[in-house]
Amino acid sequence: MKILVIEDDTQLGEQICTALEGTDWVPELSSDGIDALYRATSEPWEMIVLDLGLPKIDGLTVLRGIRDAGIDTPVLILSARNTLTQRVDGLNAGADDYLTKPFDMVELIARIRAQLRRSSGNPSPVVQAGQLSLDTRTSKVFWQGEQVSLTALEYKVMAYFFHHADRVISRTELVEHIYKQDFDRDSNTIEVFVGRIRKKISPTIIKTVRGLGYQLNAE
Ligand code: CA
Repeated sequence: MKILVIEDDTQLGEQICTALEGTDWVPELSSDGIDALYRATSEPWEMIVLDLGLPKIDGLTVLRGIRDAGIDTPVLILSARNTLTQRVDGLNAGADDYLTKPFDMVELIARIRAQLRRSSGNPSPVVQAGQLSLDTRTSKVFWQGEQVSLTALEYKVMAYFFHHADRVISRTELVEHIYKQDFDRDSNTIEVFVGRIRKKISPTIIKTVRGLGYQLNAE
């Protein structure tokens, strides 16, 4: 799950990214308004965390730009601006949630998780697909009620399939969403992950759609 973290305080931005990496997410940091708006509108993200006081373009303008571009990715504003008017302005500009600084990382993660659940159409923290379930709070996967032991990357792949269970996902898309941008990406490794997941869960859990990619098949 790719998350764009827009924060010009690089120390804080890096702290946030480190905390998000500890979950099944792939955070990337942007530290000015122009870069943020460009990246938010030109790359796919599952979630955007947005600071308001930014160099070059203000955070609220970035947010309006994202919504004007027709992008409905959940946006959580993370800002020291904490008056009622400022919070209302942020939500009215198209934010889905608003957390004021100083904040606790645990709360930020819980709020992102809640947004991701909502955007995937699964309001419960435990998402179910056929005989497969995934507990997004503990990053655990269960098949027919038994816990499946997955590595962090295998879990990322499964979480992505769950989040987009309704469609076929190409290898390129998977690579983009499970590795950081600067990582040496190789789409052949996806085949290896899918092979391992099939071995651990069931040979038919992920079906190959010829020429297109893969789709979750948890019936
Ligand atoms: Ca700032």
